[in-house]
Amino acid sequence: LVRAESVHKSYGDLEVLRGVDLEVHRGEVVCLLGPSGSGKSTFLRCINHLEQVNSGRVWVGDEVIGYRQQGNQLHELNERAIARQRRRIGMVFQKFNLFPHMTALDNVMDAPVGVKRVPRGEARERAMSLLTRVGLADKADAYPRQLSGGQQQRIAIARALAMEPDLMLFDEPTSALDPELVGEVLDVMKDLARSGLTMIVVTHEIAFAREVADRVAFMDGGEVLEIGPPSEVLVTPRHPRTRSFLARVL
Ligand code: ATP
Ligand code: MG
Repeated sequence: LVRAESVHKSYGDLEVLRGVDLEVHRGEVVCLLGPSGSGKSTFLRCINHLEQVNSGRVWVGDEVIGYRQQGNQLHELNERAIARQRRRIGMVFQKFNLFPHMTALDNVMDAPVGVKRVPRGEARERAMSLLTRVGLADKADAYPRQLSGGQQQRIAIARALAMEPDLMLFDEPTSALDPELVGEVLDVMKDLARSGLTMIVVTHEIAFAREVADRVAFMDGGEVLEIGPPSEVLVTPRHPRTRSFLARVL
């Protein structure tokens, strides 16, 4: 479903991504680990075109992100077309980006109604079933400030799911949470993984990666240095830098 080929990204003189290659199959969960500054967030942002790559390519399905293919030629897409591509990709950030002036239910309904023109009644029904799925049906009318961090993050996940994405990107979704709230968010993500959703998850939760990931990728210095099943990468890592990273976080 996702194929990144030799993705390069620099900010000025700083080369952040130095040729990232990654393939993620439909239904697969890939956890992306790596030290701070290794380019994990930048890479996720390139997948949904929040950042434009300097060179290399990202396919999601049969589309090249940011481009339209015509024969052998690639044409840059305009903002509108990029927004359309982005709809297929849900993203959940470290900071729960909910609209503070909207209830939980309205947050979840907002994009389907505003962007996809789903009739309100239908959108409400779907939003309620998503809130039920993340265990928050009883909080439908609450505002974000009335909810705990873990609850807000579960609403943010429901909000992303409301657009029925083919792919979900998670960027350290639990690292801003108090420790006792991490579990409830990871449980929702486990449930999504089991349901067959394709997910790329940047996380420091090694136990989660071990349990849920089909494959774990280790990134350092703007490259994927190692990728494989958790039983290999997390247990008998081949790359010395994976080994020293794991030694530090485990
Ligand atoms: P962390 O684990 O701390 O979240 P990360 O692996 O997600 O780290 P990135 O956020 O992708 O790392 O950042 C990689 C490098 O790119 C860092 O050195 C960072 O300072 C730099 N960087 C990221 N965004 C920008 C930007 N908009 N402008 C300039 N430099 C940036
Ligand atoms: Mg990051």
